[in-house]
Amino acid sequence: MTDPSSAPDPAQKSQAARQTQAAVKDPSALRPETDLVRVIGAASAKVIQQAFGYTTAGELLMHLPRRYVDVGEITPITALALGEDATVVATVTHASQRRMHNRRGFLLEVEVEDQDPESAGRLRMTFFNGFQAAKELLPGARAVFSGQVEDYRGQTQLSHPEYTLLGQDDEAEARPFPVYPSSGKLSQLRLRRTMATVLDGVSEGGFPDPVPGDVRARRRLPGLVSALESVHRPRQIPEAYAARRRFAFEEALLLQTVLAERRLENAGRSAVPRPGSADGLLAAFDAALPFTLTQGQVEVGAELARDLARPHPMNRLVQGEVGSGKTLVALRAMLQVIDSGGQAAMLAPTEVLASQHAATLRRMLGELALAGQLGGAERATTVELLTGSLPAARRREVLLNAASGRAGIVVGTHALLGDQVQFAELGLVVVDEQHRFGVEQRDKLRGGGEGDGQTPHTLVMTATPIPRTVAMTVFGDVETSILKGLPANRAPVRTFVVPVQLPAWRERLFSLMREQIDAGHQAYVVVPRITEDPAEEDATRARGADQADAAPLQRTALETMEQVLRAHPALQGVRIGTLHGKLAAEQKAAAMADFESGRTQLLLATTVVEVGVDVANATVMAIIDAESFGISQLHQLRGRIGRGGFPGTCLLVTTLEHEHPAVERLEAVAATSDGFELAEKDLETRREGDILGASQSGGRSTLKILRVMRDAKVIAQAREDAAEVVVPGWRERHPHLAAAVEARLDTSEAAYLERG
Ligand code: ADP
Ligand code: MG
Repeated sequence: MTDPSSAPDPAQKSQAARQTQAAVKDPSALRPETDLVRVIGAASAKVIQQAFGYTTAGELLMHLPRRYVDVGEITPITALALGEDATVVATVTHASQRRMHNRRGFLLEVEVEDQDPESAGRLRMTFFNGFQAAKELLPGARAVFSGQVEDYRGQTQLSHPEYTLLGQDDEAEARPFPVYPSSGKLSQLRLRRTMATVLDGVSEGGFPDPVPGDVRARRRLPGLVSALESVHRPRQIPEAYAARRRFAFEEALLLQTVLAERRLENAGRSAVPRPGSADGLLAAFDAALPFTLTQGQVEVGAELARDLARPHPMNRLVQGEVGSGKTLVALRAMLQVIDSGGQAAMLAPTEVLASQHAATLRRMLGELALAGQLGGAERATTVELLTGSLPAARRREVLLNAASGRAGIVVGTHALLGDQVQFAELGLVVVDEQHRFGVEQRDKLRGGGEGDGQTPHTLVMTATPIPRTVAMTVFGDVETSILKGLPANRAPVRTFVVPVQLPAWRERLFSLMREQIDAGHQAYVVVPRITEDPAEEDATRARGADQADAAPLQRTALETMEQVLRAHPALQGVRIGTLHGKLAAEQKAAAMADFESGRTQLLLATTVVEVGVDVANATVMAIIDAESFGISQLHQLRGRIGRGGFPGTCLLVTTLEHEHPAVERLEAVAATSDGFELAEKDLETRREGDILGASQSGGRSTLKILRVMRDAKVIAQAREDAAEVVVPGWRERHPHLAAAVEARLDTSEAAYLERG
């Protein structure tokens, strides 16, 4: 007897395989990649391409309706109520255009009548510059109109309603009408008809379902072909929404499948276990620690310790509130690795941060970082700093120490990724502020120790809290730890929105800084850009402000602000320093050192101080033109104060009127100090592509249907399912899913995996 499940019996082929075969048998079957010209003719295909850029059947079919008009909801005109959102079906009786008196453009006035047999109602509509409407809404045209019911000089009207023309056949069927996202010159009617032509050619043979059957059954999702039908030509509205959900799920599943595959790959790699030792550097460090670890540091520390001891590479993201002590957590992990004979590399996004980190690590380690030096402890190691701007001789020395294994920790920017950098025994890569690094860079770095087939462990730290759903979506191949709680010595930072057009507030701003400086503290003033030079302006804008809503904003330059500060009576005698990205590395280092030592009392800076800068004595920060920064950025910036047990004050300075929508974001930042809450708020106000990195890759948002916040549950389910599907050999078992994943990765160059 042969076991049919183990023998490759052609009769036992999966349904998926049979579908593929059917498609091969019928080469004329419509497929997603079929050129639209073949389906709808050259003329229509050209119109579609001009309107949306689509060239294939699959692309057009995934142009999903924005909403549906339910014929059940249609109101007779005579029953319309003022102020209501209403939908009517009516025939145009009259249309005329009128020039505007005091504005450019024209007003289209349309009168319609509905066919309520009892009492035909008349309704007036107006469209401002309705070029398309003027062409379509000719007397005799029938359409579904929806809009708000208004009163115009005693007459009922809809102003600028949405409408969709009705064809003869439409009427008979009493189905809900899809309303598609704005189609430019293409009328809804024409789009509906084009869609129908394409839909009529869709078959299971040409459109195999990438979502595995059992997953579909478990999640009660319709199959691909029936979902396409339901979403474009629903018989009832709930059916349309069920189909929509299926497409959202499919999108989530593809993404999660990619991530699950990365996890699988990772699990297949091996790493040298680094369990540490009971009487090594870490033990000595802990014993000398001047404070106790927070509960969160203990818990996350234990997780990391466990991961590092495994023979597979750790791949973990630690997120924590600003000031929660992530650096300490990372250092303890690095010490454990050193205790097991490995080295650690720590990557920072900027040179300022890298040298800060090196200094911080050396300070935290004290005599434990002085190997081979006078006063060094017996088990000591060394911390080296490698940046692009090191003098050649020093650079050689650092490289030598990395290659010989003498340096336990090497801190640097992406210069560390350079091919010349060799480690004797790279055991752990720590990436600080991961959102600035692309995934490729990280992969390259991880490959750094791979000569012997061993992958170093990776620890990613981000100071920008990431909402759970985004973490699942963007970092889905990474284990996540959340560092909760702040060290006990943290004092609260109070945040105020300062409307600077009011002179009293403006003066208060300067006198507050003066008071703090007189009390022995220090102050930051942060500005959105360096110079008034327009070229530089573009560069700053590209990395800074992340809101699309920004009208031309006031963006005070550092140069301008420096003059204001130096001239201000309240600040006479205050030692002012400046720090920005255009300074040479040694100038930056000097500016930071001056501020750290207190030689500089007021530091005027751009966002280079955003992350990681740690000067405990600073108690006040004024952020100028605060609306030009994103929510997360503002939260990061204010995390620089209130670090030394002294309460801090953060002033979000704006020239905007209180009513301006951007001020709402500032109020949100002022209202809470919870970074996770703000991250969610940030997410709501940003476009998805920004979060997922698509904006950097220059493309449109890669997530089409899925909305990260709204579809959290769908994403979680897809993650579960993907984890089950993706086991060794899954690609053979689920060829259609595999093909869809490939297609998706090709077209979007994995943009949504780019954490850049
Ligand atoms: P994060 O990187 O999470 O914003 P840091 O690692 O820069 O925070 O820590 C901020 C400051 O808090 C540092 O000066 C650090 O030495 C100190 N610190 C860290 N952990 C503790 C603790 N458990 N108790 C007191 N101070 C701590
Ligand atoms: Mg930090």
